[in-house]
Amino acid sequence: MTQPVTVLTIAGSDSGGGAGLQADLKAFALNGVFGTSVVTVLTAQNSAEIRAIEKVPAAFVQSQLDAVLADLPVAAVKTGMLASEETVRTVAANVARLPNLVVDPVLVSSDGAKLFPSTVDRAYVEGLFPHAAVITPNIREATILTGREIRTDDDLAAAATDLGRTGARCVVVKGGGRPGGEAVDAVWHDGTVRFLRSPWVATRNNHGTGCTFAATTAALLARRVPVQDALDEAKRYVQAAIERGAAWQIGAGHGPLGW
Ligand code: PLP
Repeated sequence: MTQPVTVLTIAGSDSGGGAGLQADLKAFALNGVFGTSVVTVLTAQNSAEIRAIEKVPAAFVQSQLDAVLADLPVAAVKTGMLASEETVRTVAANVARLPNLVVDPVLVSSDGAKLFPSTVDRAYVEGLFPHAAVITPNIREATILTGREIRTDDDLAAAATDLGRTGARCVVVKGGGRPGGEAVDAVWHDGTVRFLRSPWVATRNNHGTGCTFAATTAALLARRVPVQDALDEAKRYVQAAIERGAAWQIGAGHGPLGW
């Protein structure tokens, strides 16, 4: 008998299927691991907009965690939209049971609006980052977390270095795409910074890019890939998935990544 490598996403549901735990489970399957999921928040969402958010009570997040961890051999964990201070602190109270923890601090919506109060940011910094194998803020989240204006690659590197002081073992600040240019991320690890680069893909179908990057990284860590190799591979996977869905006509807004 073989035991599949098993991972867990602690994340929100995207009814439109592009981001959140739906993207995570897809990325897990396509990267060779079995995915379990603890749901933190329900979103009424499509490719164009988030219409409503319903938070799952933190006590029920704990119940889901207990059920999964009591039975399934979770080898890595990804967190996505946790949506409240209480839920961040609940997950933080369980970190000893969450191996290879990849924290994607979802703080802003795709259009850049801050989704949650600053108490949520603080809970991430205090409770989760010090225990994370990797944290993956995007440029807007890194701006909120560091107070830095981020424009250049040097700014990305400086923000990643700042966030390294939170105790996270590795920091990826995702620069996002620059039309016509490259999608550049800064990786801080062991006191040095390097960059991940991929060509910009011209498509509106990029919903779930951040979720897919973090979920793929968790899948690879669970498969015992060293962290720097896992980040390179996750970057390549996301780039390829964007290319595979680039020509899809699906929804009026930002469609999903392909497979
Ligand atoms: N999680 C949920 C439930 C979401 O709805 C979203 C964005 O809408 C995200 C995470 C982050 O998505 P992305 O990977 O596009 O940054």
